[in-house]
Amino acid sequence: MHHYQTIIIGGGLAGLIAAHQLSKNGKEVLLIEKKSYPFHRVCGEYISNEVKNFLISEDLYPDEIGPTQITKFLLTSIKGNEAKMDLDLGGFGISRHALDFFLYQKAEAVGVKFLLHTQVEEVKFDARETKFLIKLDKGNSFSADHVLGAFGKRSKVDKTLNRSFMHQRSPFIGVKYHIITAFDTNTVALHNFEGGYCGINQVENGIFNLCYLGSKEQLRHYGNIPEMEKEVLHKNPHLKNLFQNSEFIFEKPEVINEINFSPKKPVENHILMIGDAAGLITPLCGNGMAIAIHTGKLAAEAILQNKDRSAIEKQYTSHWNHFFKTRLWVGRKVQWLFGSKAVSEFSVSLIKNSTFAATQIMKKTHGDVF
Ligand SMILES: Cc1cc2nc3c(=O)[nH]c(=O)nc-3n(C[C@H](O)[C@H](O)[C@H](O)COP(=O)(O)OP(=O)(O)OC[C@H]3O[C@@H](n4cnc5c(N)ncnc54)[C@H](O)[C@@H]3O)c2cc1C
Repeated sequence: MHHYQTIIIGGGLAGLIAAHQLSKNGKEVLLIEKKSYPFHRVCGEYISNEVKNFLISEDLYPDEIGPTQITKFLLTSIKGNEAKMDLDLGGFGISRHALDFFLYQKAEAVGVKFLLHTQVEEVKFDARETKFLIKLDKGNSFSADHVLGAFGKRSKVDKTLNRSFMHQRSPFIGVKYHIITAFDTNTVALHNFEGGYCGINQVENGIFNLCYLGSKEQLRHYGNIPEMEKEVLHKNPHLKNLFQNSEFIFEKPEVINEINFSPKKPVENHILMIGDAAGLITPLCGNGMAIAIHTGKLAAEAILQNKDRSAIEKQYTSHWNHFFKTRLWVGRKVQWLFGSKAVSEFSVSLIKNSTFAATQIMKKTHGDVF
């Protein structure tokens, strides 16, 4: 059985950043990812600028791909009333197809070993040997001193670890398209509809991301996605216009379900959980990717700065709680301001009548530049 210093399970932003940071600083890293780059993911593809300095300083900012700089925010109610404001920090738009592939190449260049098209089935911590045993879908196994769980919102590994959120069903679905349309290039918009909200912002090459969090129950009721979009999303005139007057690039949308916002633990069974595996912030905050990047960095630092396992876990847990616990909680509360007629009107009027209050709420969902 081959032994590695660190095995990272999952190669989204959290896993790729942690792998890059550890390998660049001399650690032996194997990253196991069930898919193969490049590939599309359901994601709004708006990244908060809090990560920009870090990415630039590590030569990981994807300037050559041409991200779109986003500085303004538009919110519409289900009836179509609208409010605009400047974003206090802003962000950039880039597709995950391009960004994850770019970071994969950067990680490979600093020595990270990748095992793609491979799924981890089970992780066990051997307390006597103080090492992990990792079982793969292909029947073989590895051992490691450290394991980072970067497997996203929901994974087979969560099931084998019997994590508590796996016992709850989620009422949400996520749907993503890439489109060509006429929309302001520097604005991210959130359009309300009954039971959910839909974001739009430009990514690279003049393409726009159109992504929504909708209701599983409505999908069941209307039978299929086009019918649900027609009957539910099109009630908002802005969305009707976007759906009817845009060129849709994908043959069919990317769709996911089981999107669970319940609190999770940042360390479980001695595995440092990073990105969504430690907790998913509600998408309207546009912050999950920044959190994934930041947690990847913090987990790598905890391993690099401490020798003792309990000191690593203590440092990572303390940093995770400090930076993210409140943000995830605020995100769950702010989601109440979306997805129904009355509250969506209230949210629009909040921005119109008290931009200061709206900015304060927005500030609480994102972190400081790091
Ligand atoms: C509808 C929606 C819209 C969103 N919009 C935005 C937005 O605009 N801005 C923003 O910042 N955030 C947004 N988010 C959140 C953001 O997408 C996530 O927070 C982010 O992708 C988390 O990155 P990650 O690395 O933790 O996980 P992921 O990117 O999900 O990566 C996890 C990886 O692990 C792999 N994997 C899983 N299980 C295994 C296994 N057993 N073995 C091997 N590999 C495995 C998967 O294949 C995957 O590649 C949105 C989320 C949703 C649902």
